Amino acid sequence: MHLIYGGTFDPVHNGHLRVAIELRERLEVDCIHLMPCHIPPHRATPGGTSEDRLDLLTLSVADEPGLAVDGRELRRGGSSYTADTLRQLRGELGPDEPLAIVLGTDAFSGFDRWEEWEQIPELAHIILVRRPNAELEPGSVPDRLLAERRVEHLHEIKSMPGGGIYEIEPPMLDISATGVRERLEQGRSIRFLVPDAVVTEIRRRGLYGGEPGQ
Ligand code: ATP
Repeated sequence: MHLIYGGTFDPVHNGHLRVAIELRERLEVDCIHLMPCHIPPHRATPGGTSEDRLDLLTLSVADEPGLAVDGRELRRGGSSYTADTLRQLRGELGPDEPLAIVLGTDAFSGFDRWEEWEQIPELAHIILVRRPNAELEPGSVPDRLLAERRVEHLHEIKSMPGGGIYEIEPPMLDISATGVRERLEQGRSIRFLVPDAVVTEIRRRGLYGGEPGQ
């Protein structure tokens, strides 16, 4: 099964990396593909450039063979819609290989506002990560979609190319990229929130409001 975990990763932190490993183990796949998305340039917070985000992510998985980075949405440039990305991946993987995307319940609750959202379950499975305080509104489109497509057992997901929704509730660390950026802006430490190699590179480049240094 080809598993995609998308996000802004601005910057990547141990919450992302830890949950990716939990998912890889619980879903019994060899590798999980972290896919950074394009961020519109008018975003309010001081963010890293696409290149910075991609470089930091690549650095963070360098010694972890079960985690890979797929930079296709950044290379494509402009807004990248999940449906386009999945169509491209489906073309590469062929019609039979199971393909899945990881989505938190927070993101999935607005799923029916996504471009071509109805195509997405036709192209891939959804691995729905239950997040505390992010319940689906009963009777909403995502809630009904879940009821229609819920798959109970992992082996069922793995025996179909797409179309199912599989719920999972992995443990999560209380870390956010917002919290990491805030600490950097305030000149505070981010050690043990992100991998050491990422701390060093953020400092070296002077990212997120810090001065370039060693
Ligand atoms: P921001 O604080 O800038 O909104 P973020 O830390 O939530 O960023 P994203 O890159 O937006 O990170 O998230 C990518 C994916 O990782 C999303 O599906 C999000 O739900 C999930 N995620 C974010 N933080 C954690 C965490 N601490 N544990 C598990 N999953 C997380």
